[in-house]
Amino acid sequence: MDRTLQDRATGACDYHVHSDRSDGVLAVDALVARLAAHGVQEWALTDHDTVDGLPAATQASAAHGLRLLPGVELSCTFNAHTVHVVGLAIDPASAPLQRVLQRLDAQRQSRAEQIAQRLSATGVADAWAHTRTVAGHHRLTRTHFARMLVAQGYVRDMKAAFHRYLADGKSAAVKSAWVPLEEAVAVIHAAGGIAVLAHPLRYARTHARRRRTVAAFAEAGGDAIELSTAAQAPSGAQDQLARYAAERGLFGSLGSDFHDPAQHWIRLGQLPPLPSQVRPIWQHPRWPHSAEAAASAPSTQVAHAW
Ligand code: AMP
Ligand code: MN
Ligand code: MN
Ligand code: MN
Repeated sequence: MDRTLQDRATGACDYHVHSDRSDGVLAVDALVARLAAHGVQEWALTDHDTVDGLPAATQASAAHGLRLLPGVELSCTFNAHTVHVVGLAIDPASAPLQRVLQRLDAQRQSRAEQIAQRLSATGVADAWAHTRTVAGHHRLTRTHFARMLVAQGYVRDMKAAFHRYLADGKSAAVKSAWVPLEEAVAVIHAAGGIAVLAHPLRYARTHARRRRTVAAFAEAGGDAIELSTAAQAPSGAQDQLARYAAERGLFGSLGSDFHDPAQHWIRLGQLPPLPSQVRPIWQHPRWPHSAEAAASAPSTQVAHAW
């Protein structure tokens, strides 16, 4: 069943994907079937603050002949702002990682209770119960609240749910102090993984602030940065980001941040090529090549030198 990964640069890989174990819509099995149908050969499951989906993802990936990198997306705080750090090729059983995930779990629960209270105060009935039903688990994210608000008819779509209730400064927004950035990078390293700054264009509008975020991430010991994403970048911003990453010696990663098939503009594995001035993440020293060698052992030839 093993397939040889022919070329990571042309839609064969995706290292930022969500399942319904966090705020994705698809269960792991359906997600893996979809990845296979889209021609993705190598991927990482990166649910928010949980590794619960990894056993099922490992099984399903093996059944479909896909290569899985165990991953997670950690909620972090830097300079009082939320930043997301993806950990790739982690050992999910790592004790320091497990401790941080438990902390985040507790923080998520108490924040979710506060969000529900605020929504109730603004006239949304049974916010907690309805959102728990939407999620099907206790690890509530703002995405679940947004889906509930759409389902209950309070807003027309997800965008409006964030704009009206859930985005920073809005009526149901609750600030949370997540894991400090340096600590998140350290626990990913302790778990043997590679720390990747997720969707860097989402944190700041100005070039100067983006540059500071990239610098802080590099100084915190971060390894890589997502430079190929499904979101459309403002003109010039992507190039500058690639330059900041290159200046800091960061590797480039690719990830769609897929959550929901209804978001038809985000397609699994359909990502622009990495900019040439950064080294691709699969050249990182901690990239797990042994599994790759094992997976491709029976094949005769690999088309590209990565
Ligand atoms: P949380 O970690 O609970 O704060 O939820 C963050 C999640 O909400 C992100 O991972 C996205 O999936 C989703 N999200 C954030 N902002 C928006 C937005 N404006 N529209 C749709 N989804 C969003
Ligand atoms: Mn999300
Ligand atoms: Mn994120
Ligand atoms: Mn994500």
